[in-house]
Amino acid sequence: MNQFENEGVRQELDVISVGFGPAGIALACALEDEAEENGKKPFQRARFFEKGRDSNWHGAFLLAGTDINHHVFRDLVTPRNPRSRFSFAMYLKEKGRLYKFGLLGRPASRVEWSDYIDWAAAQLKDYVAYDEGVLDILPVAEKGILRAVDVMTAKGTYRTQRLVLSHGSLPKIPEVFGPHLGGRVFHTSQYLKNIHLGGGPIAQRWLVLGSGQSAGEAVAHLLGAAPTTQVHSVHRGVGFRVGQLGQFPNMAFLPEHVDYFHQLEPARRSKVFDEIRSTNYAGVDADESQALYSFMYEGEVCGHQRLNLHAWSNVVCVEKVGGAYSVVLRDSNTGLETTLYVDGIVLGTGYEQLAVPPLLTLLQPWLLRDEDGSLSVDRHYRVDLQNSEGLQILANGTSEKTHGISDAQSFSMVALRAQRLMDALLATQPRQLAPVVAHPRKNLRAHAQARP
Ligand SMILES: Cc1cc2nc3c(=O)[nH]c(=O)nc-3n(C[C@H](O)[C@H](O)[C@H](O)COP(=O)(O)OP(=O)(O)OC[C@H]3O[C@@H](n4cnc5c(N)ncnc54)[C@H](O)[C@@H]3O)c2cc1C
Repeated sequence: MNQFENEGVRQELDVISVGFGPAGIALACALEDEAEENGKKPFQRARFFEKGRDSNWHGAFLLAGTDINHHVFRDLVTPRNPRSRFSFAMYLKEKGRLYKFGLLGRPASRVEWSDYIDWAAAQLKDYVAYDEGVLDILPVAEKGILRAVDVMTAKGTYRTQRLVLSHGSLPKIPEVFGPHLGGRVFHTSQYLKNIHLGGGPIAQRWLVLGSGQSAGEAVAHLLGAAPTTQVHSVHRGVGFRVGQLGQFPNMAFLPEHVDYFHQLEPARRSKVFDEIRSTNYAGVDADESQALYSFMYEGEVCGHQRLNLHAWSNVVCVEKVGGAYSVVLRDSNTGLETTLYVDGIVLGTGYEQLAVPPLLTLLQPWLLRDEDGSLSVDRHYRVDLQNSEGLQILANGTSEKTHGISDAQSFSMVALRAQRLMDALLATQPRQLAPVVAHPRKNLRAHAQARP
């Protein structure tokens, strides 16, 4: 084997999922429920590649005292099959907390929800290869017809005609911070790994960028981490807004809204999305808003302000100065500039889905796009392909642009979507394929590392 060959396993698999977070786990639950009902697995060789060592649910931002923002019925399975053994109710029953949970009088905590996800994942370990991130996906074409894909990991090459994209969304990193990422400049997805960098007491001066729930939680957490920490909370707009909690805008999370949204032209979709985006993005809970405002007010009363709000501010320049950072803010209305000196920067800037997932870059000649450039994905989550035979690529939580706000970064659709995905997988008519060969290693791009 020469240095350009991808060493390791070469194997053909019936189904491959990139990612084993909630969306991937929900699909595995559907496959397992089907197997138990029919006494036979629908696919003998289904594998979920997960780059993490476990299925820890946003573990680097699992802060004590935080709750989930969806109803517990929207778990991994209940909307699809309330009799499934992977439900949150079954989890509570097994843990002996069914009655006690009923007395709680508040949503489940994120810590408990994460434990539920771990509990479900642990029962499906035959499906998953942990610590095996997908680095790239290569086309397998004959005379220009795309017939399969080769999924590349550090351990091998896996050929399939049924590929499911369950890899979630990407942390949004504003360009100006790109060169400084690492150490004490990090996205909330890396929060608990990075705030105590180097050990010892926590750094004193922080800047937190963003107005959403994660930014609010990071501000509150940093202020509570030591009595002397200072936080600059930087916002493009007025500051923290309360997210839309009303029933009517939240009807966008009902399954029928996906049908409504999907049939629209791309320009209409984006208008509808803008109208309801504050149900899930760029807003904090009312109690978080109350707590942060009270903290700031008390700071003024005591003459010792630790929470400094910078509204209408864009970050225009970041520079490293010794062990700290200078950050220039420009007021978007007056143009006035302010320079802050901080020891650490937290990007509470949320997540995004690109028009084409980076992992599909090499498949671009076969991918059909909508007018806005994003992937064309049909109602059953099948990515539309041209000049292709026998191959199915499915979007599992990665089709926000075509299916709307409830289909990404939300538990609302994971269970129902799993049913549609499984139906689409079962309907695929695979063709006879050539044996899996080695690919030049130079083609491999480290997408598994693309997310910080
Ligand atoms: C802090 C926080 C709190 C949230 N709270 C809620 C809530 O209360 N309610 C709600 O409905 N939603 C919430 N969300 C939204 C949340 O993202 C989704 O509900 C859910 O996690 C989406 O699941 P997913 O599987 O689609 O994506 P993810 O949870 O992002 O899982 C994707 C998985 O794919 C893996 N992966 C990525 N790339 C690769 C690769 N190349 N190779 C192999 N594996 C890969 C990742 O490691 C990850 O395990 C929250 C999000 C955050 C960040």
